[in-house]
Amino acid sequence: MAKTGREKIVGGSADKPATKTPRSKKVDAAPPTVSPEVERSSAINPARTSDDDRLGNALRPRRFDEYVGQNFVVDSISVAVSAASRRGEAIDHVLLHGPPGLGKTTIAHIIAKEMDSRLVHTSGPAMERPADVVGILSNLGERDVLFIDEIHRLSSAVEEYLYSAMEDFRVDFTTGQGAFAKTINLPLQPFTLIGSTTRVGMLSAPLRDRFGLVYHLDYYTDEQLAQVVLRSSRILGVDITETGAAEIARRSRGTPRIANRLLRRVRDFAEVKHDGAITEEISRQALKLEGVDRLGLDRLDRLYLETLARNYNGGPAGVNALAATLNEEQQTLEDVVEPYLLKIGFILRTTQGRKTTVAGAKHAGVELPGLDSESGPQQTRFL
Ligand code: ADP
Repeated sequence: MAKTGREKIVGGSADKPATKTPRSKKVDAAPPTVSPEVERSSAINPARTSDDDRLGNALRPRRFDEYVGQNFVVDSISVAVSAASRRGEAIDHVLLHGPPGLGKTTIAHIIAKEMDSRLVHTSGPAMERPADVVGILSNLGERDVLFIDEIHRLSSAVEEYLYSAMEDFRVDFTTGQGAFAKTINLPLQPFTLIGSTTRVGMLSAPLRDRFGLVYHLDYYTDEQLAQVVLRSSRILGVDITETGAAEIARRSRGTPRIANRLLRRVRDFAEVKHDGAITEEISRQALKLEGVDRLGLDRLDRLYLETLARNYNGGPAGVNALAATLNEEQQTLEDVVEPYLLKIGFILRTTQGRKTTVAGAKHAGVELPGLDSESGPQQTRFL
């Protein structure tokens, strides 16, 4: 059955926070049905905005040869896809982990397309009740791809249904109560589960072990991001110089989603203030106006560093205390702000809490007593 290019977004209430349900295999709903389609929530992933969702689809690479970087991951998945296609089988379940905006969803789309399969898109928080998961699983066709974003937010009750579904392509559930209780053993079509997470450490071992292919996506180099910017400019019909693209890439904190977002901001600036063409100087002016500095840090990053350095004397400080001081979601700090500050050596995560490095405090413009003012940006000396 040819089922190319169709994506279905399914799930219960994507906006609701994850709730822990008791470990039970009882499903209250009668025959399983696919839950109503819902908008994919952007609030649960602070790095993704509705603007990204709208334009992201146009800019999203459709094939592996359009996908920039992550060569090891792409090569390995391409082999698995080709081998499975030749055998007419579904490919092994895939777990993709790494910071937001690095291309995990994009890989899921490409896998489905290359497998000539349908992609069913849902998320951990959306699969709230066991009935949701049974409904979704029972509606999967042969070799369909089930993509679960934020898979670390699945409730344990829902997660248990996935174990037999992933391993044996069947799901057992009970309907009715007491004397009327009936266990139904439902065979499923062979499918591929692709899980995506920014927090692989929060996945339970039994779930993690059921993925045959596990990949970590890392931040992109400036050169790779410049390629992303040039590709997106071609698609959007934007006139841009190579140095203009390089300037945007340098300030995109290793993340293609941010590169595309900054490109759109710079394009607006170039159209309103100039003739529409993007040069290095125009990129610089536009990003300065956006509050994005030469390292790609924005106001929240700098505020985080400054708060840690000034209010907490460089730390250690708990992330919940920092979130309260900054009046920000803890998840935003953990998923979006901290990973990049850690990567560039501006903060350290210790068992006592977060600490700023010499370079981090300096970037925030805070001179703490005893700090060596000559420290370079990559220095990670404890304060
Ligand atoms: P994630 O699922 O990891 O949060 P996405 O797959 O949604 O990230 O990627 C965000 C956007 O970044 C996509 O819409 C796409 O336009 C762009 N993008 C991601 N990875 C790449 C890549 N390797 N090459 C080109 N563009 C990419």
